[in-house]
Amino acid sequence: MVKGVKIKRGDEIYSRAVILSSGTFLNALMHTGLSSTSGGRYGEMPSTGVTEALVKLGFETGRLKTGTPPRLAKDSVNWDVLDPQPGDENPQPFSYQTDVSEFPFLPQLNCHITYTNQSVHAILEKGFNESPLFTGRIKGVGPRYCPSIEDKIVRFADKGRHQLFLEPEGLNSDQIYLNGFSTSLSAEIQLEAMHKIKGLENAEMVRPGYAVEYDFFPPHQVDNTLETKLIKGLYFAGQVNGTSGYEEAAAQGLIAGINAASKIQGRADFVLKRSEAYIGVLIDDLVTKSTEEPYRMFTSRAEHRLLLRQDNADLRLMKYGAGFGLIDQKLSDNIKEREELIGASLEICRSKKLYAKAVNHHLESKGSSPIDSTETISKLCRRPEIELKDLIGLDGTGSDPVLLKLLNDDVALRQVEIELKYEGYIKRQQETIEKLEKYEDLKIPLTLNYLTLNALSLEAREKLGRIKPRSIGQASRISGVSPSDISILLVYLKK
Ligand SMILES: Cc1cc2nc3c(=O)[nH]c(=O)nc-3n(C[C@H](O)[C@H](O)[C@H](O)COP(=O)(O)OP(=O)(O)OC[C@H]3O[C@@H](n4cnc5c(N)ncnc54)[C@H](O)[C@@H]3O)c2cc1C
Repeated sequence: MVKGVKIKRGDEIYSRAVILSSGTFLNALMHTGLSSTSGGRYGEMPSTGVTEALVKLGFETGRLKTGTPPRLAKDSVNWDVLDPQPGDENPQPFSYQTDVSEFPFLPQLNCHITYTNQSVHAILEKGFNESPLFTGRIKGVGPRYCPSIEDKIVRFADKGRHQLFLEPEGLNSDQIYLNGFSTSLSAEIQLEAMHKIKGLENAEMVRPGYAVEYDFFPPHQVDNTLETKLIKGLYFAGQVNGTSGYEEAAAQGLIAGINAASKIQGRADFVLKRSEAYIGVLIDDLVTKSTEEPYRMFTSRAEHRLLLRQDNADLRLMKYGAGFGLIDQKLSDNIKEREELIGASLEICRSKKLYAKAVNHHLESKGSSPIDSTETISKLCRRPEIELKDLIGLDGTGSDPVLLKLLNDDVALRQVEIELKYEGYIKRQQETIEKLEKYEDLKIPLTLNYLTLNALSLEAREKLGRIKPRSIGQASRISGVSPSDISILLVYLKK
C-alpha cells in the first residue's frame, strides 16, 4: 500500500494515492553522435533513484528510446522554393462547447514540405560508424512507427527520398521543427546533410537532433485503472508505461487521475471498455499484451472501430463526464434530447415506406436505379449515391415533426445517416461485443495462483501468472493463451 513520496531534499509527502508520470526522464540519457549526456529533454535533468527504488520493491523495468529532429532558425530557410501545407480550411474543435464563431482562436501558420535525396543519405551514412544507434550504445527500443532518419535509410533502402515537414514551433517562435528528420548522428553530419536538402541549403541549426533513452515499466504490471498490481494506491501513467505520444499520455493521465481520486473518495473503479473508447483499447492492450517497443494508438488496433466514431463520442462518453460532475446540466439535457431524436428518427426511417412515384425521379437524378413499388427510407439510404436529407421531404415525410427536427440538427442527421448506411456491419459488431461481454465481465481474482492449475498449458500458466488479467475477456487476448486454456479457467472460476 502506498504511503506517499519522499522528495530529494528529504521531505515526506503523505498521500493515499500517488501517480508516477515521469515521462522520458527516468535515468535518461541523450545521445548525439559520440556524445552522451544525462537528461530527459534538452536543458532538463534526468530523474535518478525512482527506478531503483521501484525495482527494489519488485517492479520489472525496461529501456526505450525516442528521438527528436534538429531545430532550424526560421529566417535561414529558403521558403520561396518550398510547397506550403496549410491546415484545414474549416478546422473542427473537439468539443461542442467551443464557440465556433471565433474558432480557430489563433492565426494559423503554414507548414512546408521538402524531401531528402540520395546525397543527403550518402552524407548521413558517413556518420553511421559514430551512430549511437548502430554502434550499440543505445540499448533501448525505438518507436517502429516514428523511426529516425538513419533508421529509415537502412530499413527502406530502396527509397530514394523521404518526406520532411517544416513545422513552425509557435506563433512567437523563431524555431522550425524538421519533422521526419529525427536523428542521433553527430551535429556536424546533421548540418552537412541538411544543407543538401532543397530549401535548407543555408539553414542554420539552432539545436541538433538527439535520441533520448529512458527507463519504463512494462505495463503488464498495472491494472486497467492504471494502479500497479504490486502496490495498491500507486498508479503509473504516460510514457513510463511504454507508450509514445501526446494522446496516449493524456488519456492515461485522465484515467489514472480519475481512479486515484475515486479510490480516495471511496468510489468505484473507472474502466472504459474496448467497445466504448480508444482509451479502453489502449489500456487493455498495454495491460494484456504489455509492450516491448513504444506503443502508439492506431485506429487499426481497435476491433470495434466502426462503433468508436468521432460523431458519436458524445453518446458514448458524455454520460461518464456527467457522472463525475464535469458536464453541466444543460449540455447533459441537450445530449439526452439528441439521443432521443436519433432513436425516434431511426425508427421512422426503418418503418416508413416511400412510394415509387414519389422517389423514382430523385433516384434517377442521382444515377440510382428506380424502385418498383415501395421501399423503406433506411434501405434507400444504404445506396452510396443517396443522401438521407434528400429522402426526407419526399412522399410527405417532410411534414413528420421528428424528421423535420432531424433536418435542423446536422450532428444528429449525420449519426442517423451513418447508422443506416452501415447498419449491417454495425449490427454484426454489436452482436460480437455482446457475445464477448458475457466473458469480458467475468472477473478473475488477482490472487489466483496459476501455477497450481495443472490443466493449463505451461505457456498459459507462465503468461497468465505474469500478466494477471482482470477478466476472462482480457485473459483471452493474451497471446499464447488458447481457447482451451480459457475453457479450463472458466470451469475453475465457476467452481
Ligand atoms: C520536442 C518533442 C516533440 C514531440 N512531438 C510529439 C508529437 O508531435 N506528437 C506526439 O504525439 N508526441 C510528441 N512528443 C512526445 C510527447 O511529448 C510525450 O509522449 C508526452 O509528453 C509524454 O507525456 P508524459 O506525461 O508521459 O511525460 P512528460 O510530458 O515528459 O512529463 C513528465 C514530467 O515529469 C517531470 N518529472 C520527471 N521526473 C520527475 C521527478 N523525479 N520528480 C518530479 N518531476 C519529475 C518532468 O519534469 C516532466 O515535466 C514530443 C516530445 C518532444 C520532447
